[in-house]
Amino acid sequence: MMYISTRDNFREVTASTAIRLGMVPKGGLFVPARIPVLPDAWVTLFPRLSYQEKAVYLLTLYLEDYLPEEIKECVDQAYNGANFQHQDITPLEKLEDDLYVLELWHGPTAAFKDLALQIMPHLLSLAVKKGGQDRETVILVATSGDTGKAALEGFKDVPGIQIIVFYPGQGVSKVQELQMTTTTGRNTHVVAVQGNFDDCQNAVKEIFADEAFNSKLKKAGYDLSSANSINWGRLVPQIVYYFAAYGDLVTRGEIKAGSRVNIVVPTGNFGNILAGWYGARMGLPVHRFICASNENKVLTDFFQTGIYNRNRPFKRTSSPSMDILISSNLERFLFEITSHDAEKIRYWMENLSLQGGFTVDKATRSSMDGIMEAGYATEEETLTTIGETFRATGYTLDPHTAVGKKVYQDYRDRTGDQTPTILAATASPFKFNASVMRALKGDAAVEGYTEFEILGELARVAGLSVHPGLAGLECRLVLHGGACASTGLRAQIEEILLHSK
Ligand SMILES: *Cc1c(COP(=O)(O)O)cnc(C)c1O
Repeated sequence: MMYISTRDNFREVTASTAIRLGMVPKGGLFVPARIPVLPDAWVTLFPRLSYQEKAVYLLTLYLEDYLPEEIKECVDQAYNGANFQHQDITPLEKLEDDLYVLELWHGPTAAFKDLALQIMPHLLSLAVKKGGQDRETVILVATSGDTGKAALEGFKDVPGIQIIVFYPGQGVSKVQELQMTTTTGRNTHVVAVQGNFDDCQNAVKEIFADEAFNSKLKKAGYDLSSANSINWGRLVPQIVYYFAAYGDLVTRGEIKAGSRVNIVVPTGNFGNILAGWYGARMGLPVHRFICASNENKVLTDFFQTGIYNRNRPFKRTSSPSMDILISSNLERFLFEITSHDAEKIRYWMENLSLQGGFTVDKATRSSMDGIMEAGYATEEETLTTIGETFRATGYTLDPHTAVGKKVYQDYRDRTGDQTPTILAATASPFKFNASVMRALKGDAAVEGYTEFEILGELARVAGLSVHPGLAGLECRLVLHGGACASTGLRAQIEEILLHSK
């Protein structure tokens, strides 16, 4: 299968080229030219397959220029007992009647991004080989915290690749900083940038667009690439766990094979929920998707009014991985529901970049209405939901997942819809331990304590063991101490690459 640009401004490319390029060089995102539809028998077949077998089956449909044995090799390197703490990879827990939590945080960095970033580096490494180049690939990442560590773990020691992560020196939590600076591996590099996340991200974007710098690196034997969620190689592995969750419900007799479910996803860049939507187009029986936002509710407003408007104050919340005003993957969704109307997409995206917003037409709105519901939770509602859920069920939600739960409750109260529902749990509660502790035990349980003290206390209060990716962090050796000004990234990159030769 070939991949096309959402803006019809590039040639058709193979899956491996789409993954290697990351995004369309002239702007736009790669999407599959058509979405594969599963044979009806999948509903009886899938419950009998392991997570890994389902992954091979589904990825093979999308990655046609990869050999099945190459895909199997990538799957085995990603989804194994060394990387994931649970043998089901993404276990499903029953929370209440008709509500099931899909735990996506058993990977090395305790957030759902591991599901994609454990496999994507292997897919990229093969893509580079298929492209016939002998240059090394250098992954540049600007991170506000979570993506950086997940990418470091995923790309660590992958042949042919160097990874350099830039994070805002003052903008990440101590846990997040130590997660990154203690990363092992011969090809990992971590640099603190003076400034905030925007400074970091802008500096990295400038480097991608700097032709002179890129050709200088090419001559030295390096190609730059990116690992963020606009890369199809990050989206496609996420389809698998929605099918896995559905299969689990069938196997356990919670639903009949073929009956419909709802899927709730705490959303930022719209990648995770979009993967579920592709699953539905392939045959997964979904009644409604529920798109949950925090106070940065640009998507809630969009689905309710048809107007996307990023001109609003940016809020820092207790669910920071959803603090986003430009949801990049929405472009793919709009392209799909307008039946590939690239002209509309070009127009809307131009408005977004020039004016900070766009309005979709009536026909487009009505084609989203049947399937996408949206809502948001305030900061107070998020913390209250963590406390209430814990008292009622003994289950500890992280703040992102709590946003999803609250939005689901509102949806259910409003509609009376009793369809069995899967709630995507995107992070371990330990990753955002201070907010969770505050929700469970009040301000006094947090103030004056370090994040590491709170980790241990949360384990006791919640009756859980600390996620292994976070345990003992404060005792690990710091291996990366690089720092630079936001104007100094190029010099850092050159120094790192020359030294690694
Ligand atoms: C990245 C992230 C999200 C948002 O996911 P998108 O695919 O960007 O919508 C939600 N929760 C957590 C914990 C994350 O790390």
